[in-house]
Amino acid sequence: MSVVELDAVAKSYPGVAALNGVTLSVDYGELVGIVGPSGSGKSTMLNLMGTLDRPSSGTVRVDGHDVASLSDRRLSALRARRIGFVFQSFHLAPGLPAVDNVADGLLYAGVPPRERRRRAVSTLERVGLGDRLGHVPHELSGGERQRVAIARAVVGEPALLLADEPTGNLDSVSGEGVMTLLRELNAAGTTIVIITHDRELSSALPRQVALRDGAVV
Ligand code: ADP
Ligand code: MG
Repeated sequence: MSVVELDAVAKSYPGVAALNGVTLSVDYGELVGIVGPSGSGKSTMLNLMGTLDRPSSGTVRVDGHDVASLSDRRLSALRARRIGFVFQSFHLAPGLPAVDNVADGLLYAGVPPRERRRRAVSTLERVGLGDRLGHVPHELSGGERQRVAIARAVVGEPALLLADEPTGNLDSVSGEGVMTLLRELNAAGTTIVIITHDRELSSALPRQVALRDGAVV
């Protein structure tokens, strides 16, 4: 069964066809790389998979639900419980210790505060940051910040982890560390879709989808 299915999906902005009839499905347990030049529609596709946006036409199905049939409220609930996001620029709350940044990943999952903290600690240990619980983002390296962001994205055990250029702001050693962590999470069962324009990183992934001018090539 597919965790996400796009069927003839198009997305346009005024004067721009960002996606042009994309059909693609990702099965539970996959690790997929999305590659393509800047402007080819990668982030647009990831935002549709993540239900952050709705298609102009075509069907997006996430975890069995047709996105078009859900109210904004049900869509937010699906997103909060089933999807984790990682971005190039980390998107951590400044001034907030790592453990609280990660615990906030459970804010909308109906988990009580003490349990949120307990799970945040164990997830930070899992990503190798058990000794950085109280560090705020500016006290962490770029690679460590991205690990915190990944911990926040997976603390709720999402069905799908979406990462948009997660190594884009990192040096090559930290970038490889982040990719290794994503592979470990995938091996432990998390379905992951990663956008990268790093050919070397993407060629090491089990499946690659190439986009050009808003279409799969
Ligand atoms: P990529 O991530 O591959 O660089 P994007 O999905 O961000 O590409 O963008 C695809 C195309 O859609 C680009 O031409 C971009 O300028 C346009 N686009 C993306 N988001 C918007 C938006 N919110 N409003 C208008 N145009 C957009
Ligand atoms: Mg992009």
